[in-house]
Amino acid sequence: MRSAEKELAELEAASLRRTLRPVNSQQLTHAHIGGNKLLNFASNDYLGLANHPAVKSAYIDAVENWGAGSGSSRLICGSLKPHGQLESYLAEAKATEAAIVFANGYAASVGTLSGLLRKGDTVILDKLSHASLIDGARLSGATIRVFPHNDLVKLEKLLVSTTAKAGTDSRVVIVTESVFSMDGDIAPLLEIIELKKKYGVLLLVDEAHGLGVYGPSGMGLSEHLSCSSEIDLQLGTLGKSAGVAGGYIAARRDYIELLVNRSRSFIYSTAPPPAQSAAALAGLMIIRSEEGTELRAKLWSNIQTFADHTQREFPTSAIIPWHVGDSSSALSLSQKLQEQHAILAPAVRFPTVPLNTARLRITLTAAHTHANIEKLCSALGH
Ligand code: PMP
Repeated sequence: MRSAEKELAELEAASLRRTLRPVNSQQLTHAHIGGNKLLNFASNDYLGLANHPAVKSAYIDAVENWGAGSGSSRLICGSLKPHGQLESYLAEAKATEAAIVFANGYAASVGTLSGLLRKGDTVILDKLSHASLIDGARLSGATIRVFPHNDLVKLEKLLVSTTAKAGTDSRVVIVTESVFSMDGDIAPLLEIIELKKKYGVLLLVDEAHGLGVYGPSGMGLSEHLSCSSEIDLQLGTLGKSAGVAGGYIAARRDYIELLVNRSRSFIYSTAPPPAQSAAALAGLMIIRSEEGTELRAKLWSNIQTFADHTQREFPTSAIIPWHVGDSSSALSLSQKLQEQHAILAPAVRFPTVPLNTARLRITLTAAHTHANIEKLCSALGH
């Protein structure tokens, strides 16, 4: 039998072993780790809503009203009201006929792709698509094709060859993120939509890192580009900008009903706690409110401050990859920031990113002050 100890030693030798760091407390911009108070540049809570009083009180009130857990899958005990309210709100906010909520974004990706696709179908993924999208594609049994990151020429070539062979009873889906989770860059959504229309295929866009950050009402890059209505399957998580947890798909009603029937991560899993949906709804309502607009402006002003200090090209999102190269150098830099500057900026390594592209994944939030950002830039030598 393969030894676990040996496998861990191999990971250690390659600077690829992960360990869990106990965090004693985490509030907005700071995390207490191992007796140190660290300035946190690692969170995806882009608007600081995880600690917003309205989100917290929606959670607490819903626990009082609904209990701590949901007790079963929604197809067993029935669909609890907070889940339905969140789904109606999402459908309205995303201007789709319907929406469905999962326990988290991972379950939404896996459940959607494996539920809608089967052997004989094809999924065409951007090379940098999130692990949950890749896993969903693999689980579906569909043929998987991958195009180099944001490469429209290669995407079209794949569409030509795939659609030439596709039968009338099969599905072809293009999958991309709007804002890429490890590089922070954005997808050419309008051009991808042109291609999806030209070849008559479906498009799934994961707005995990676009929600709250882009769009006049914070509904993501697709809202910013006014192209949401052209996206067949709008996927996202409520664990980042919305400040809570949960995953969703907003789409035409027939697709949502198909997911209720086919998505195994929805059917065979206890529904998320109703309070989670109530709190996520409160988070979404803030994202779309005037306060959300102000928080977004603050976030982009922080991004501007970072760009000014580091004299880098203006970043396209709140995710800033600080490229280092090899895993051990990335780990050393992260450790130096933590030990000498009390800054938390974790190293991201293979297999999360390709080999030898290790980096610090710096995330900025609306909760940071300009002084926080200046401290980070100075620690990075700027
Ligand atoms: N998609 C992307 C692009 C992500 O970055 C993540 C979270 N890492 C997910 C999906 C999964 O979302 P969740 O954390 O809610 O499971």
